[in-house]
Amino acid sequence: MARGSRGPCRVFGPVPSRRLGYSLGVDALPFKTCDLDCVYCQLGKTTRKTLERKAYVRAKEILDELSAALKGSRDIDFISFSGSGEPTLNTELGAMIRGAKRLSKVPVAVITNGTLLWQPDVARDLMAADAVLPSLDAASPAAFKKLDRPVPGLPLEKVVQGLVDFRKRYQGKLWLEVMLVKGYNDSLAELRRLKACIDRIRPDRVDINSPVRPSDSRVRPASPAVLARAKVLFGPKAVLIAASSKKARQPGKATAEQVADMIFRRPVTAEDIAHSFGLKAAEVQALLSGLVHSGTIRASRRSGKLFYRGS
Ligand code: SF4
Repeated sequence: MARGSRGPCRVFGPVPSRRLGYSLGVDALPFKTCDLDCVYCQLGKTTRKTLERKAYVRAKEILDELSAALKGSRDIDFISFSGSGEPTLNTELGAMIRGAKRLSKVPVAVITNGTLLWQPDVARDLMAADAVLPSLDAASPAAFKKLDRPVPGLPLEKVVQGLVDFRKRYQGKLWLEVMLVKGYNDSLAELRRLKACIDRIRPDRVDINSPVRPSDSRVRPASPAVLARAKVLFGPKAVLIAASSKKARQPGKATAEQVADMIFRRPVTAEDIAHSFGLKAAEVQALLSGLVHSGTIRASRRSGKLFYRGS
């Protein structure tokens, strides 16, 4: 069961997320379409690096799949648009968000790198979301270039001003994520510059994060001391994002294909899978063993934890 042999599956999970609890994920892009190429990206290198907005995937396709997935899903905290790249590059994102809200009462969140909010049509598309979770990893052009490796023609100040202007108009929850990476943006000077940007943007919450899942093995999380310093510096709205939600789930079931689909989206641990689908440890191990033996997935160790990822 190689990835290429499976039809496109745009709705996945629910997956445990450190910021959104259990969310039904929606992937509105072909792999991996983004205007950035962050060194810490869980998905690996950006293969389609672009600023071009277009209907990469149609809203109807997404909404048909979402409608079916919602019928079989329980205990969902959010429908979250994220997936294989930057969701705001899809010009049908607004129609998808509004359609998702017509389908169910589950709140809709968009996880975005936040770089395109200066575009009026992007900002308009996001207005119907209950929560927007943009990133801001750098406050100096040098750190932005080194850490997020943007497509040419994307000045950092334009990105920050886009976030500031969006906040003024957007009524939903704005949860800003700052990913701190050792040697890239963890100096005191860069943290202070980030603090100045956060004060301009005025998000409802600042999620301080650090990479924990395998990407480039040379990329290291910021030290606990730096994370603690950032929390104090960023102020009372800052939260340290550490472990996945551990909310207990009802016993459930999953097929090998559903588990493989989750693993293809991002590297996960056996515990993530157990929590996501409500499976016992032995059931997860049986599914994982089969997938590893068939060559569909592979296991690798990082920071003392065993992660599974697509082969
Ligand atoms: S913005 Fe997100 S999808 Fe794009 S490269 Fe960065 S981490 Fe990966």
